[in-house]
Amino acid sequence: MKLNLLTREDLGNPETYVTVSPSQMAMWYRCRYAWKLSKIDGVGQENYRESGAANKGLIFHAFMDWLHKHCIGRPISRLSPSGQMKALEHVQLTYGADADFYKVFTIFLAYVDWAAENEEGVPIASEIEAFANTGLVTRDGRKIFLHGFIDLLMDVFGKLILIDHKSHTNQPWTKSRLFYDHQFMFYWLLLELQGVQVDGAYVNAVNLFIPADEKKFDMRLVGIGSKNIRPRFERIPLGPHEVNLQFYLDEFLRNIKQMWCDEAVYPMRLSSDCQYCTFRDHIELDATGNESASIATLKVRHNTKDFELIDDTDELEAS
Ligand code: SF4
Repeated sequence: MKLNLLTREDLGNPETYVTVSPSQMAMWYRCRYAWKLSKIDGVGQENYRESGAANKGLIFHAFMDWLHKHCIGRPISRLSPSGQMKALEHVQLTYGADADFYKVFTIFLAYVDWAAENEEGVPIASEIEAFANTGLVTRDGRKIFLHGFIDLLMDVFGKLILIDHKSHTNQPWTKSRLFYDHQFMFYWLLLELQGVQVDGAYVNAVNLFIPADEKKFDMRLVGIGSKNIRPRFERIPLGPHEVNLQFYLDEFLRNIKQMWCDEAVYPMRLSSDCQYCTFRDHIELDATGNESASIATLKVRHNTKDFELIDDTDELEAS
């Protein structure tokens, strides 16, 4: 199955286009002013490491990427002891010092066994960087592309299936929850907008809950001893007839037009949860009534070694 997807090289000179990723959309939905500070004014954001459940999700994701890159073109099978060591050593380079690393590794090994029993498809590509032309142009004449990293594409009996890995620790993924997950719909659209017909999608969800009491830790089940015992690994299949992609596309384009094309209007959120926003110190500066001086000050404060201009990727987005 050959896919001819747009690559960054195909887009040409980086000064002639802008890209919009799911993490950028998420920032826009949280606060339009934060998006403007980051994308228009170039104020750096805090470069923080995820913690807790989101961090476990990143570790699991890294194992999954290793697995699928090693199974391109062949069915997933159980790992030999040397395969297990290779996966461990690979992900250890980034996450070896994490307290939950070995438990997530244990869950990963259980996942591989689960996939070897249940997975009918053959991986085609993993962590695929993809772009799609929106047909929109910014106020200053640059083309606008959607941009993201798709977890996995599989060939399942000749059908192209989009796979999204999802992790959680206490809120199981369900079909109805996916309708609120713009990231998932975004990936599907990234392919369809390039003329790639997606025959369906699987959301492979893993519960990464690890109980404090080691005796209660089970690789394949969670909720031991309670009434809510569930499998750790669950698959949610979705057919094209179950998702109204046109609805999501229309909404994305409407928001992207407001970001980049229409009159520049970026209201502040100004709520009590602003205290968690990387840019929170702009409020006291802006309240003095001098926005341009405020932005200049923010740039000096933020564009240092502790902060960085976040690249337009969603690579580190917790799933
Ligand atoms: S501090 Fe509040 S208003 Fe300012 S960018 Fe952050 S969320 Fe938006």
